[in-house]
Amino acid sequence: MFGLRSFTIGRFFGIPLEVNSSWFLVFFLVAYTLSTSYLPAAMPGQPSSVHVFIALAMTAAFFASIVLHEFAHSLVARAGGLKISRITLFVFGGVSQMEDEPTGPGLEFLMAFAGPAMSLVLSAVCFGAMALMRSAHVTSTLLIPVQYLAYINLSVAVFNLLPGFPLDGGRVLRSILWALTGDMLKATRWASRMGQLLGYALIAIAVVGVLNGSLDLIWFAVMGWFLSTLAGAAYQQQLLKVRLSEVPLSAVMSSPVAFVSSDTTLEEMAHSYFLGGRHSRYPVVSEGKVIGLIELQAMRDMPRDEWASKTVGEAAHTDLAAVVATPDVTIDRVLSRLEPSGPGAVLVVEDGRLAGIVTRADVIRLVSSMDRQQ
Ligand SMILES: [Zn+2]
Repeated sequence: MFGLRSFTIGRFFGIPLEVNSSWFLVFFLVAYTLSTSYLPAAMPGQPSSVHVFIALAMTAAFFASIVLHEFAHSLVARAGGLKISRITLFVFGGVSQMEDEPTGPGLEFLMAFAGPAMSLVLSAVCFGAMALMRSAHVTSTLLIPVQYLAYINLSVAVFNLLPGFPLDGGRVLRSILWALTGDMLKATRWASRMGQLLGYALIAIAVVGVLNGSLDLIWFAVMGWFLSTLAGAAYQQQLLKVRLSEVPLSAVMSSPVAFVSSDTTLEEMAHSYFLGGRHSRYPVVSEGKVIGLIELQAMRDMPRDEWASKTVGEAAHTDLAAVVATPDVTIDRVLSRLEPSGPGAVLVVEDGRLAGIVTRADVIRLVSSMDRQQ
């Protein structure tokens, strides 16, 4: 994300939670604002070390709330049969990274609403705790962080429910339009337009605010710019997916395919195929059947002195479900496998026999030819 590194900090309910480096900036900004302006005003007379300590705890609790919001989305999506690759915290909050899009408006509605619903529940719990603490005359040192969490979770819910795609509220709107029109692309177009309008509205609020001297509202301009950019991109992406869902693998695959026999040694593979060859990956075949895919990277990962004794079959990527598809499968179904982090190619197999290969480059070529025809 933004070319910055991400770190996996744990796995909850089987879903990896990762933190992008850009998130440290926002953690620092929130903690800094709390300790230098919010807390000194809310609890004056305390030493600044106390303010810093409480600010750090409040910031951690705030981000824990964001993580719970994302887990609510992810767990509902997973219950609906979608694959969640991970949850990432980054400079603008959190995001649940899904491998597939929701299959129908009902599931989209539930998973989009689950996040803000979690934030509303957290806010309600904090307001309840505040009422109890007030009646028990608890000190303000305890009361103020709870009050902050009550309001911040309420704001997170309200902001995310703004009806502009790709915000949660925009997804809720899209699911309703989708259910009403039966046309997912049209629903995405309208919900994205709303996203762009909302983005411009946020920028306008920021401009008016700054002209009136409230510099805090600059953050609205950043969010507005981000939202309008994302909204435009989201529609283009959806449009592309729909067009790719009309093209079968058989229409873009390269055929016939150069392949390698599984009993070839890695030494021979390196000399006869990778060196001087045009490809960086080859299908591996044993007795006429496809058994996997060998990549240049897999060879690099293998110690050099083992190349003479190890065979291609031993080094190959043999998880067939991840590399093989039939010719009638459409391109949109295999996009995630063509990501740089995945196997990078799909082997097109018909009745166990290799019919062709589709690489990332083939899809990029197809997309750019579609753009030229537009
Ligand atoms: Zn959300």
